[in-house]
Amino acid sequence: LALERKVAIQAVLQASKVCQSVFKNLVSGETITKNDKSPVTVADFSAQAVVNTYLRQHFPTDPIVGEEDSKDLRGETGKALREKVHELTNGVFSSSEQLTEDKLLEAIDRGNYAGGATGRHWALDPIDGTKGFLRGGQYAVCLALIVNGEVQLGVMGCPNLPVDAKQPDGPRGSLFIAVKGEGAFQRSFTDSNETPIKFSDIKSTQEATFCESVESGHSSHSDSAKIAELLGITREPVRMDSQAKYCSISRGDGDIYLRLPVSETYVEKIWDHASGSLLVTEAGGAVSDVNGNKLDFSVGRTLLKNKGVIASKATIHSEVLKAVHEVLSKK
Ligand code: AMP
Ligand code: MG
Repeated sequence: LALERKVAIQAVLQASKVCQSVFKNLVSGETITKNDKSPVTVADFSAQAVVNTYLRQHFPTDPIVGEEDSKDLRGETGKALREKVHELTNGVFSSSEQLTEDKLLEAIDRGNYAGGATGRHWALDPIDGTKGFLRGGQYAVCLALIVNGEVQLGVMGCPNLPVDAKQPDGPRGSLFIAVKGEGAFQRSFTDSNETPIKFSDIKSTQEATFCESVESGHSSHSDSAKIAELLGITREPVRMDSQAKYCSISRGDGDIYLRLPVSETYVEKIWDHASGSLLVTEAGGAVSDVNGNKLDFSVGRTLLKNKGVIASKATIHSEVLKAVHEVLSKK
């Protein structure tokens, strides 16, 4: 997958840079667009257009499961948003690669694939953690390649994640790469040298730190507090938006990522977990849903057969799962 890896890195980096420039305009106080809905929407569509265009250039027959579609960009009502997205997207490409508006919409809609168990397809979350983006916190551009239902490659760009967690005020912009069977790696946005990453070397759950969503509407904070107690964890949970959680634990900043269902009906999306879950397993971690089942990426655009997510260092995963079961079964 050498070419896929290279193209995915380039695509994610360029899309991440688009997001960064949108945010910069946002905080500099300029209204980046007069009539569009929100800056995050602009960045979201542009990031999907950028990634899909790179994928098309190199792998023209590969289908893509992308979070966004072009509906809101069409017609008179979508004009202002469309123009802004068009300008931003073309800013990434050379003069010979410029997209017409029609090609832009087509690029975004290449993300409409239904997914499934056979053949290969990409899964893309152009901005995971939109709330994090808006608050200047964590967000991520996440791209994965799924072959016959198994994630084979994952690349995540985290523009606001410090390159070194021990220097929270140091340089930001971390890129994470995993290929099945080849390990997990990190590099900065500016230097292409990659460093292998792995989980921390904690020996017991008492030493562990939890990582969870900022939004209690995405993962239950009260259940995680009970689970922490059962596991003897005394450290406060680290809360952050997006799949940066998968990245953090994979390089040992934290140890356990819990995504505990708050809604009976919510079904997780494959683009929210494909790249992150591969990074974790390649870094020495284990991933399952709250019932201990493997995440099944072969059933379409969602993780229909799964509920929630438990990711941790592999050696403590069964113990974490037991505590999760104990708390959730009492509900
Ligand atoms: P996070 O940043 O980890 O809190 O998660 C952000 C993701 O949560 C978004 O990409 C959404 O797809 C997803 N999401 C939206 N509603 C829910 C929900 N009720 N439960 C779990 N995840 C959700
Ligand atoms: Mg998302």
